[in-house]
Amino acid sequence: MPDFVIAPPPVTALPVQGKDGLFPVRRVYCIGRNYAAHTIEMGGDPDREPPFFFQKNPDSLDPGGVFPYPSKSDDVHHELEMMVALHSGGTDIPAANALEHVFGYGVCLDMTRRDLQGEAKALRRPWEIGKSFEHSAPCGPIVPAANIGHPDKGAVTLTVNGSLRQSGDLDQMIWKVPEMIAYLSEYFELAAGDIILSGTPSGVAAVVRGNVMDAQIEGVGKLSVTVR
Ligand code: MN
Repeated sequence: MPDFVIAPPPVTALPVQGKDGLFPVRRVYCIGRNYAAHTIEMGGDPDREPPFFFQKNPDSLDPGGVFPYPSKSDDVHHELEMMVALHSGGTDIPAANALEHVFGYGVCLDMTRRDLQGEAKALRRPWEIGKSFEHSAPCGPIVPAANIGHPDKGAVTLTVNGSLRQSGDLDQMIWKVPEMIAYLSEYFELAAGDIILSGTPSGVAAVVRGNVMDAQIEGVGKLSVTVR
C-alpha cells in the first residue's frame, strides 16, 4: 500500500442484486435528450442528431433512498433513467459487440437543478452546476445482465406521491444502449466501473420536500426515493 498524505476518498460502490459484493464506480456518463418526446419538451429537435453527453461525479450516485433537496435552486426536476454498468471497456467499440461490456442495469434518477441548468444554457456555460451536485443521482442496485438479459423494451414510469409524472418505453430511445457505448468509446476510453445514464422520457417536473418518487423500469426494477 502506498502512503497517502491525506486519507484516500472512499470508492463509490453500489449494491448488486443477488450478490454480496459491491459494484465500484469509475465514471458516470449521461446522455442528453434521448427520447423524442422529452427532446421536444426541452425545446430541441427530435431528429436523430448525434448524441451528446455530460458527466456526473461518481459520488453523485446514492442508493440510500433519500434525496436531500439541494442548495441554490427552487426548481429541482426528476429525470428517470435506466443506468448501464460496464464490467469492461475500451476504445472504438463496435455497436455489434458493445453489450459484451455490460455487467448490468439499474433504475436511476438524474436529478437536475433546472433553474441553474437553464442559466448555464443561456450563458453557454457547462452544465455541471445544474447536474453534478451531491446526491444528484439516487439509484437502485445494479441488476446483473446475467439475470435479466439486455432490456431494450419495457415501460418506464415515475410517479410522485402516487400521481403519474413520467411514462415511456425503453424502445423509444433515439440512441440504443449499444450505439451509446460505441459512440462514447470513440471519444473516451471506457472501462470497468463506468456507468451510463441512458436518458429520460418526457414528463420531467419539479419536486418539493416531502415528495416520494416511485420509479419503475419494466424488466429492471423499482426505486423509491423521498425528497428530504
Ligand atoms: Mn438526464
